[in-house]
Amino acid sequence: MAGMNTLVTGGAGFIGSHLTEALLEAGHAVAVVDDLSTGRGENLAAVAGSARLRAHWASILEDERLQELVDEADVVYHLAAAVGVRLILERPVETIETNILGTDRVLRSAAKEGKKVVIASTSEVYGKNDRVPLREDDDGVLGPTTKSRWSYACSKAIDEFLGLAYHRNKGVPVVIVRYFNTIGPRQIGRYGMVVPRFVQQALAGEPITVFGDGHQSRSFTDVADAVRATIGLSLDSRAVGEVFNVGSGREITINELAARVRDLAGSRSEIVHVPYDRAYEAGFEDLRRRVPDVTKLRETIDFSAEVDLDTSLRKIIGFYRGKPGPS
Ligand code: UDP
Repeated sequence: MAGMNTLVTGGAGFIGSHLTEALLEAGHAVAVVDDLSTGRGENLAAVAGSARLRAHWASILEDERLQELVDEADVVYHLAAAVGVRLILERPVETIETNILGTDRVLRSAAKEGKKVVIASTSEVYGKNDRVPLREDDDGVLGPTTKSRWSYACSKAIDEFLGLAYHRNKGVPVVIVRYFNTIGPRQIGRYGMVVPRFVQQALAGEPITVFGDGHQSRSFTDVADAVRATIGLSLDSRAVGEVFNVGSGREITINELAARVRDLAGSRSEIVHVPYDRAYEAGFEDLRRRVPDVTKLRETIDFSAEVDLDTSLRKIIGFYRGKPGPS
């Protein structure tokens, strides 16, 4: 669909800024709402001069114009959320409130005129389910409420419930995308994400910190692929009312990732193992494996991830080269 009006909440964040760029590139107009909590204005520097971009630096919880912005949009991409394991452990109240109340507000605004909403969710909703690969209808296995790590998964699961309920009960066209460890330039390591941390450590010649034994694995997805899947799903009527894994299906252990980053960065950093209770907090529960089944995504929009891991890592290394040390 050419020339849509879109709204991207969290549009100055890591995935949001790449999505905003791609939407502008495709000829659409984009209104961004972002409170710059983890997002940054400079993430949109490359498109700041675009006449089709409007940025509103405000919280989706408070912005009085939200209803108006939703009314003006053909599609709302709801990416504003508190993300990152470390941030969640540090600020549990904000995490829960931003994620649940923010999504509630966006959905209520969208219900007024039945606007399409794409909700960004996460593979975290599968929790400790280590079935390989994970399908969209597999169980979420969450830990106890006494471990605040699980509040993130739980808050995003509520967002999904809410989105699906708005679709069923109020006819709002909702699409849910579950991102699996998306990586790329502009992702920051401060909130715990492994790839920017390893890249910055490697470039600074500092020890690369593998948490636990490093045999845990993940399936990393380049942000360009994640964005392409998101836009594709948002334009396909068959995606409405459905949940999709968005990922590559490739698996790598964290030990292998550390070695790969070190090699590609030409670094001599030592790779060290840090026990979980030192890395996070006592009793922290990590996930051993997390690999998506991407059959549904492929069958619905004929999508498969194209960017291989080395290409992604090289882009990220290029992004961080010359920037200040680990943050
Ligand atoms: N991790 C690590 N070193 C770090 C940061 C993270 O070994 O400096 C590990 C972390 O324990 C997990 C994996 O890398 O096993 C992915 O962590 P991330 O926070 O990026 O994503 P998630 O846990 O949400 O998959």
